[in-house]
Amino acid sequence: MDGVKVTVLVGGVGGARFLQGVLAAAAPGDAIRAVVNVGDDIWLHGLRVCPDLDTCMYTLGAGIDTERGWGRAKETWSVREELEAYGADPTWFGLGDRDVATHLVRTRMLRAGYPLSQVTAALCDRWSPGVELIPASDDRIETHVVVDDPSDGSRRAIHFQEWWVRHRAALPAHSFASVGREQATACPAALAAIADADVVLVAPSNPVVSIHTIVDVPAMRPALSAAPGRVVGVSPIVDGHAVRGMAEACLAAVDVPVSAEGVGRWYGARTTGGLLDGWLVAPGDGAEVPGVEVREVPLMMTDPDATAAMVRAAYDLAGVRGAERSRTVDGS
Ligand code: GDP
Ligand code: CA
Repeated sequence: MDGVKVTVLVGGVGGARFLQGVLAAAAPGDAIRAVVNVGDDIWLHGLRVCPDLDTCMYTLGAGIDTERGWGRAKETWSVREELEAYGADPTWFGLGDRDVATHLVRTRMLRAGYPLSQVTAALCDRWSPGVELIPASDDRIETHVVVDDPSDGSRRAIHFQEWWVRHRAALPAHSFASVGREQATACPAALAAIADADVVLVAPSNPVVSIHTIVDVPAMRPALSAAPGRVVGVSPIVDGHAVRGMAEACLAAVDVPVSAEGVGRWYGARTTGGLLDGWLVAPGDGAEVPGVEVREVPLMMTDPDATAAMVRAAYDLAGVRGAERSRTVDGS
C-alpha cells in the first residue's frame, strides 16, 4: 500500500512539536511536507533570520534547546555580548553563537541568488529533519504590528519580532500587516505539496501570526480550496487559553474569541470559502463550526506519542490511514 502524503501548515514551536507527532505516527512510504510561516523572518545585523523555519529544523534535527523551545542546544552568547558592547541595535533579539552559523550560511546563499526554499533544503541536509520544510514564500513577507508608541503615543507599525520579543506582546496591538505580501507569491513547492497531498493538516500553531500569515500569501488560498485531500485543523486553544505562549494577545487584536470555537469559526469551512473540513478540539471544548466536522480528542502535546494520537485522529477524520486500517481489521 502506498504511504500517505501529508502536508502540514506550521509556525514555530507549536508547529515543530506537532511535526514530531506526524513523524511518530508515520508509516514507511509516507511523504511528510511542511509549509512553514515566514512572516517572523527578519534582517538583523546583516543576517537573515528565519525563526519558524529554524525552530522546525532544529527541533526535528535534535539540535533544539528543549528547555527554551527555540535556538540551539548548548548555546553560548559571545556574539551577542560583543554586539552589545558596541551598542549595536537591536540588542533585544538573542542571536546565539551556534545559531549565527545558520544565519551566516543562509545569508550567503541568499546573497548568491538562491531562493529561500533551496537555502532551507541545503541547511536541512545537515539536520535531516525527516520532513520536507518548505517556506510559505520565497519572497520577503514580514508581519508588522500596529501599536501606539509608548514614548509619544503616536501610532506606528513595528516588526513582529520587536513586538513579540522586545515588548513580550504587552503593547496592545491594533492590527497586523503583512509587508511585501502584495508583491509576493507562494513558494511553488508549497502549492505543489498542497495539490498533491492526501490530507492537509493545520498544526495547532498561532492562528493569527503563523497560520493566517501562511494562508494569506497570494495563491495559497485558492490552492487550499482546490486541495484534493481534506483539510483538518488542530486547535491551539484548550479550555479557553493558548496552551503556551502569547497567542491570546494576537487573537484579541483581530477580535477573535480565545476559544476552540472562536478560532474554528475564524478559519471557517472550506465549503464556504474558509480553510477547514475538520477541526479537532480538546475534550470539553465542544465547538460548533458551521460546515466543519468537529471532534473532541486530547490535544496536549506532552510527548511525540501523545501528539501522534492527535495526528491519527486527524487522519481518521480526513478518511486516510484510519479508514485503511479499519478496512484491514474487518477484512473487507
Ligand atoms: P511560534 O511560532 O513559536 O509561536 O509557534 P506556533 O505558532 O507554531 O505555535 C504556537 C501555538 O502553539 C500557541 O498558540 C499554543 O497555544 C500552541 N501550543 C503549544 N503547545 C501546545 C499543545 O501542547 N497543544 C496544543 N493544542 N497547542 C499547543
Ligand atoms: Ca513564529
